[in-house]
Amino acid sequence: MHQPPSDWTRRGFLKASAAAVAAGAVGQTGGEVLAQPPRPAPDQSARCDPPVVVASANGLKAIEKAMSMIRQKADPLDAVIAAVNIVEDDPTDHSVGLGGLPNEDGIVELDSCCMHGPTHKAGGVAALRNIRNPSKVARLVMQRTDHVLLVGEGALRFAKAHGLPEEQLLTDEAREIWLKWKESRSDTDDWLAPDLIDDGNVSQNRATGVEHTWGTINCCAVDAARNIAGVTTTSGLSFKIPGRVGDSPIIGAGLYVDNDVGAAGSTGRGEANLQNCASFLIVELMRGGMGPQQACLEVLKRIADKTEPRLRDKQGRPAFGLKFYAVAKDGRHAGASMWGPGKYAVHDGTEARLENGAYLYKRPDAKREAKDK
Ligand code: ASP
Repeated sequence: MHQPPSDWTRRGFLKASAAAVAAGAVGQTGGEVLAQPPRPAPDQSARCDPPVVVASANGLKAIEKAMSMIRQKADPLDAVIAAVNIVEDDPTDHSVGLGGLPNEDGIVELDSCCMHGPTHKAGGVAALRNIRNPSKVARLVMQRTDHVLLVGEGALRFAKAHGLPEEQLLTDEAREIWLKWKESRSDTDDWLAPDLIDDGNVSQNRATGVEHTWGTINCCAVDAARNIAGVTTTSGLSFKIPGRVGDSPIIGAGLYVDNDVGAAGSTGRGEANLQNCASFLIVELMRGGMGPQQACLEVLKRIADKTEPRLRDKQGRPAFGLKFYAVAKDGRHAGASMWGPGKYAVHDGTEARLENGAYLYKRPDAKREAKDK
C-alpha cells in the first residue's frame, strides 16, 4: 500500500488532493481510481518584491493608490478597489461610474466584478443603476452573500441595503453626448436587421454621427507575499440596449484571478470576450507555462480566428478593439491589444508609468488610439 510521506498532514492531503482533482490528475472510470502523483504545491516561500500593479491606460493615478496601500500592507483586493474608485468617481471619464455614457434610453448602467486570489472568492454586479461605485458593491456581493453575481433591480436594492447612496450618474456632458448620438442614429445601433447579420463588413453599415465607444478600468495586483487580486468596472458599451451586460462583471471573461498563477482582465468589445472566456483562458495559458504577453496574444489570435464575418474589416481582421492586461504571480506583466500600438499602466516599485503593449494588428489611423482605452 502507498505510504504517505511522514510530514503528510490531513490538511496537506486535502489541499493536494483538491489541487490534483482541479488539474485533472485524478480520474475515476467505472469505480477504478486512476491515481497520479499530485502536482507539487506552489512555492509559498517565494515573494514578489516589489509588488506589481497593472491597469488599463486610464488607471495611471489609480495604480499609485493601489501601490501605496499595498506597501502599507492592505489586502490587494482593497487596494485595487480603492484604486478604481478614483476613476469611478471621476465625472470626466465617460467609461466608468459617475459620468459614464448611458444606455440607449439615457440611463447609466454599470457592470463590475472583483476576485480575491487568497480565498478564490468573487463577486459582481451587472446593469446596476444609480450607484457610482459598482466595484464596492461587487466586493460586498463577494463578502456578504453566498452569491457571485447580482443584477439590475436586485443589485440596486442590495447596494442600498448596505447604505450606498443612490444618485443621478448621468452628467450634463454625458447627456449631451448621448443626445447627439440619439439625434444622429441610424443603422449604427445594436438592433440587427436580418440583412445586416452576415454582410461581411460592419463598416458599410456605419453612418456618420457619434460612434459607440467602449471604455473600462481593469486593475490587478500582486503583493509581496504573492497574493493576487483584481477588479474590473465599467459603464459598458455606450448606448447599449437597456439590460445589456458585457464581459466586465463576468468572472472568467472581464477578469480572472488564480492565486497560484496570476490574473488577467480586459477592456474593449465585451461580446468577443464573453464568447471566448478570455481572462480565464489567459490565466490557464500562463498556468501551462506561457508568459503574460504570449498568453494575451494567443487569446487575441483565438478571438480573431473566431470572429463572425459581420465584425471583420475588408482584410478579414476583427473590426473592433479589445485589450488584455495580465500579471503573473512572480510579477511579470503585459498588456496586449487587437489593434495597436496601445499602452497599459504599470507600477512595479519605482513609479506609475505607461508601457507599450503588444498587439496583433497595427492600427492604420493612430488617432483612434485615444478613444480605445
Ligand atoms: N468591456 C466593456 C463592455 O463590453 C467595455 C469596455 O471595456 O470598453 O461592456
